[in-house]
Amino acid sequence: MIWYTVKKFNEAIRKSKGRGSMKIRYFDHSATTPVDERVLEAMLPFFKENYGNPSSVYSIGKNNKEVINIARMKVATVLNCKVNEIYFTGCGTESDNLILKGIAFANKNRGNHIITSKIEHPAILNTCRFLENFGFRVTYINTDAKGMIDLKELERSINKNTILISIMAANNEIGTIEPLEEIGKIAKKYGVYFHTDAVQAIGNIDIDVKALEIDALSLSAHKFYGPKGVGVAYINERVPFITMQDGGHQEREKRAGTENVPGIVGLGKAIELADKNLVAYNDHLRSLRDYYIEEIQKRIPYIKINGDLEKRLPGNANISFRGINGGKLLSELDKKGICTSSGSACSAGLLSPSHVLLAIGVPSYLARGSLRVTFGKDNTLDDVNYLIDSLEEIVKKLR
Ligand SMILES: *Cc1c(COP(=O)(O)O)cnc(C)c1O
Repeated sequence: MIWYTVKKFNEAIRKSKGRGSMKIRYFDHSATTPVDERVLEAMLPFFKENYGNPSSVYSIGKNNKEVINIARMKVATVLNCKVNEIYFTGCGTESDNLILKGIAFANKNRGNHIITSKIEHPAILNTCRFLENFGFRVTYINTDAKGMIDLKELERSINKNTILISIMAANNEIGTIEPLEEIGKIAKKYGVYFHTDAVQAIGNIDIDVKALEIDALSLSAHKFYGPKGVGVAYINERVPFITMQDGGHQEREKRAGTENVPGIVGLGKAIELADKNLVAYNDHLRSLRDYYIEEIQKRIPYIKINGDLEKRLPGNANISFRGINGGKLLSELDKKGICTSSGSACSAGLLSPSHVLLAIGVPSYLARGSLRVTFGKDNTLDDVNYLIDSLEEIVKKLR
């Protein structure tokens, strides 16, 4: 059994090294991104010579505490918050859990009501379901056909027991950018804490937590050319919350466990690059995305573009192809070396249509034939033309 497992593992590693001769064209940057060369370079010394535990007293340990705090400063600068409001976690999902559960349990004497939306990531929706089992009440508000949350419904849903509003900054499936400023104002008016899952937004939109009156925010390095397995929870210092992971005194006793030093260094470098290149990357993504949509509209009949066309992440295109099975479409594209997704990565493989598309009123027969293409900084016009040609051919064949 053990021998067999080791053999399988080695095989998988070997396969991932020599992927054959087919060129891979990657259009799934909302699922994850490749690590930027500069980020990898910054991380490497912390796997090898600088491996000390940040809690140790000798210099190769202690120095790493400094390094972590430099990364913390970089994140705080980009978000415009205080350094002591940044907590490093293991991923975006963990940040969402820490913030929602941590704030809910610490504030349950004030109230037991939470407001979120129907189009959140499963990291939020399933955490809310968990909290419902512990006596919290959750309101899942609607969005319009473009995926914009209903601000009037949001305000009407607030009552004297409401402690927290959690609305994502940008949607991972249809790219809709939510009106954070207006939500922040409403939350402030009623004295309710405001959290935003900004995992898709970082690197695409400028988020100033002070200006937008955001009390808590989640982000994840692997969505902006950083490594997997490291995230951030920003929690304003005046917001009470409890830890979800007990142990040592790391992260000011709010998130125990020896710090992922290489990961944190990578996150720091990645957020610095994301911030510096935001406008340039956006321009590039938007031009590829607009070209893609224009060509598909010209060349393939019976399609529907899902989500808002303006208030949308620059690299996101989500299109439903009538009469097409999304799963089949993905595997035909895969045969041509094209990576895309149908709905979110988490629901890929499952046949059920995306909860986001259903929530914005896309009928399930169209939702099943949807394709999410998310462009990245390294995609070229040549790649996009290959994608468009392949899609035209495959859709014709499958119909
Ligand atoms: C990817 C994603 C997450 C989860 O982040 P992980 O680091 O993969 O756990 C949460 N929310 C949104 C909107 C995402 O896109």
